[in-house]
Amino acid sequence: MARSRRRGFALPDDCLFCKLYREGDHVATTDGFVAIRDINPQAPVHLLVLPERHVDSFREIGEFPPEEAKRMLEFVADVAAREGLTDYRVAVNVGPTAGQTVFHLHWHIKGGWV
Ligand code: AMP
Ligand code: ZN
Repeated sequence: MARSRRRGFALPDDCLFCKLYREGDHVATTDGFVAIRDINPQAPVHLLVLPERHVDSFREIGEFPPEEAKRMLEFVADVAAREGLTDYRVAVNVGPTAGQTVFHLHWHIKGGWV
């Protein structure tokens, strides 16, 4: 585990979304959060919101300070609005049998159906 100099929390070296947080093609950013396009979109618009803070899944949501958790949810709503989405779906898959394949918490935003 490497340790983020700026933040002071652990960032696994081998985590795809930690890597994409640092050097991905971001469609939106704010302090501690980025949005990227899903590489395998399941809707006309399919974005992922990634926190800089690495937790394996939504089960560990309690590791986020309350203010950070609130800002994360606000960023999800902001990203959808900036993409011009009024109606959309927000989803988090928790655990492999629920469809989770990347073990760094992320929020799916799907929309764009007419
Ligand atoms: P989940 O299955 O809920 O863990 O979501 C992981 C998502 O990450 C899937 O929808 C994948 O299509 C997406 N994904 C995997 N690799 C990449 C990548 N390199 N860039 C963007 N999205 C990715
Ligand atoms: Zn990670």
